[in-house]
Amino acid sequence: MHPFAYHAASSADDAVRALASPAAAPLGGGTDLLVAMKGELARPDLLVDLRRIPGATDITLAPDGAARLGCAVRLADLATHPGVIERYAALAQAAASVGTPQLRNMGTIGGNLAQRPRCWYLRSGLPCAKNGGHDCLAASGENHYHALFTPGPCHAVHPSDPLVALTALEATVEIVGVDGPRECSLHALFDGAARNRHAETTLAAGEYVSAVRLPSTAAGGVQFYEKLMQRGAWDFATVSLAAHRRADGAVRMALGGVSLGPCRVSSSVEEDVATGGLDDDSMDALAERAMYDAVPLTHNGYKVWQAQALLRRAMQRLDPRS
Ligand SMILES: Cc1cc2nc3c(=O)[nH]c(=O)nc-3n(C[C@H](O)[C@H](O)[C@H](O)COP(=O)(O)OP(=O)(O)OC[C@H]3O[C@@H](n4cnc5c(N)ncnc54)[C@H](O)[C@@H]3O)c2cc1C
Repeated sequence: MHPFAYHAASSADDAVRALASPAAAPLGGGTDLLVAMKGELARPDLLVDLRRIPGATDITLAPDGAARLGCAVRLADLATHPGVIERYAALAQAAASVGTPQLRNMGTIGGNLAQRPRCWYLRSGLPCAKNGGHDCLAASGENHYHALFTPGPCHAVHPSDPLVALTALEATVEIVGVDGPRECSLHALFDGAARNRHAETTLAAGEYVSAVRLPSTAAGGVQFYEKLMQRGAWDFATVSLAAHRRADGAVRMALGGVSLGPCRVSSSVEEDVATGGLDDDSMDALAERAMYDAVPLTHNGYKVWQAQALLRRAMQRLDPRS
């Protein structure tokens, strides 16, 4: 393992100063970063621990239904916080579905969003599109767990469960860096992830995610997260779905396990689901429409069926007349 120094940042400014070094990396719970370092996927000289920055572990619920989640809020806290469970059930359920209690007790929401893909070609150091090669080795190789929607050479999927719930809840992220703070959508954070040869996020050198923000529309309504796995526990999603019927009647749905970034279901499908009163044929047609642009690889066509099954179930649960 590459030797490294450790610095516990005492403030956001201190973290930004420390992260200005090109060989520095932000540290949350270390459950992915240290494993990546042991596998030589990451070789930082300096780990900048974000967990002691004031406010980094705070869950702040505003009276209007909005919330701010500090980047070092642990997944276990999201899964068990009564206010999060009451307001953002889909997020609490997604956090509760992550790996094991040990991972949830150490893993932070910032690290969960910025974790690297689990593709075995990438993790094994083989010369894939993200490891110095030209092509995605999964495209013509072992691709049972790879993506259905791929706008770039890499066919890996993003492993995060919370990302799927946050996408359906239309969360944004707060980012700090040398040029000061900025806020961006999840879509913008992962823009070009499949084409990016070094990372999945658009974070510039020295920047880190300081918080996740939930808008007031994310609170309440009918919301849930459902995850399909190869085994019953301690596994990544083959496909997952977060769904939200907001208090104003609008529907938002997002899929996991099918792309390397956030994957919102098309707005035309969401609008038709929001009308409710769908019969079986209409639900089948909408589920098919939602997956119309999917491009299965040789071994992952089953994911289309899984996604359609989750979508149909979600339509039944979201129907205001059911
Ligand atoms: C066996 C196993 C099973 C797992 N199962 C699941 C699962 O079912 N679902 C799921 O969602 N995940 C799963 N994971 C992944 C796990 O959830 C992540 O390892 C964890 O969430 C990462 O959080 P962390 O705080 O430990 O991140 P770290 O390991 O500290 O960091 C991960 C990456 O993010 C960067 N980083 C950390 N914090 C920030 C920040 N605030 N801003 C920008 N970059 C940052 C680091 O530099 C590093 O590149 C599993 C992992 C393992 C090992």
